[in-house]
Amino acid sequence: MLCEKCGKEYTGEFASGRFCSMRCLRTYHAVERSIQIAKLLLDGWENREIGKELGIAQRTVKAHFNKMFISHNITSGIKRVKLAVILYRKQLEEEHENGQHT
Ligand SMILES: [Zn+2]
Repeated sequence: MLCEKCGKEYTGEFASGRFCSMRCLRTYHAVERSIQIAKLLLDGWENREIGKELGIAQRTVKAHFNKMFISHNITSGIKRVKLAVILYRKQLEEEHENGQHT
């Protein structure tokens, strides 16, 4: 079996069925969560609404945002708006690329 997170081959000692370790399982879910949160951000949702929708604490939503801010080098100013612009641009680029392949 190949791990869906790191692509490493594993023997199935770890019981998840899709990942080689608890670490990969956790990372994978954290990334998926971040993508969900980013999508809701682009739709203009507030932390409170995002938390409610995903069944997580507002604090957790904030932690995800902070991680995204850091990974996009956003350290000051109106963070959510900047991040939304970056994500929106990325989304447009991806749609554009996908369009070229069809
Ligand atoms: Zn792995």
